[in-house]
Amino acid sequence: MAIWNLGSINADYIYSVPHIPAPGETLSSTKRQAFLGGKGANMSVAAARAAAHVNHIGAVGPDGGWAVERLLEYGVDIRNIAEIDTETAQAIIMVDPGGENAILLHPGANAEIPQTTLQTAMAEAQTGDWLVIQNETNLQRTAAALGKRMGLQVAYAAAPFDAARVQAVLPHLDFLILNAIEAEQLHKATGQSPKDLPVRDVIVTLGADGADWYGTGEKEHFPARQVDPVDTTGAGDTFTGYVLAGLDRGMPMAQAIKQATKAAALMVTRPGTADVIPDLSEVQALQ
Ligand code: ATP
Repeated sequence: MAIWNLGSINADYIYSVPHIPAPGETLSSTKRQAFLGGKGANMSVAAARAAAHVNHIGAVGPDGGWAVERLLEYGVDIRNIAEIDTETAQAIIMVDPGGENAILLHPGANAEIPQTTLQTAMAEAQTGDWLVIQNETNLQRTAAALGKRMGLQVAYAAAPFDAARVQAVLPHLDFLILNAIEAEQLHKATGQSPKDLPVRDVIVTLGADGADWYGTGEKEHFPARQVDPVDTTGAGDTFTGYVLAGLDRGMPMAQAIKQATKAAALMVTRPGTADVIPDLSEVQALQ
């Protein structure tokens, strides 16, 4: 089996600043770091680290070769990442000494993934494979409908939350993952709580409180592991990538969630995103 992930690829530039600049202010940064990011890329790396065969479907600009190289290094199949004539997506992240941040996101190539790239990828997909989507790219709705028609299992991480996008893909989903805030936003937008949604499996992640799974039976709760968090960025993406990789490799849901809980717990003890997602051997070594 394989995972096909239609997902964002970002260059995350983290600038350390003495304070978050006010309108009209010019400020020098004291440090700059560049990382591979984007929810899509993070999920692809997580699932590949968890030993799944992951095909990333996406786009970068002529300045994004390094990001694609990095995905390849982490074990992601990159044949369906188009290089297009638009700049690679960027997140400009300013962080002050107290940890407060301000983020400017420029979607760039993530919003212009060519339809032909999606079609070329889907021509290779097999019944039962997973198709994964999030809200940081174009084509989700087309992909979800196509995936469903082809007999793929369609998974959706509803982030960043957008009520219209969620409603557009909901009828095609087999698997939905939301954090607690997104679940509340969805409830406000549709009047439906997770257990009422017409989706086979729904997971609501609750940060340090763990995760709830709404499957065919009763809600099942999975506590998080007790750790001292250093940086929770990417915890959700790591969790999602690990759950899907587990399911793709034939694990029952409860086992896949338990493994993902370990991976996410390791992740929150490390600063950084895609570059520090733990691999399966590290996760399995945790008791
Ligand atoms: P993010 O947007 O920060 O990547 P998210 O909001 O999508 O995350 P969360 O619900 O915060 O997702 O976290 C996903 C999973 O990661 C949780 O279900 C839990 O297993 C693990 N996790 C998150 N925060 C912690 C923590 N402080 N300690 C232990 N595990 C955590």
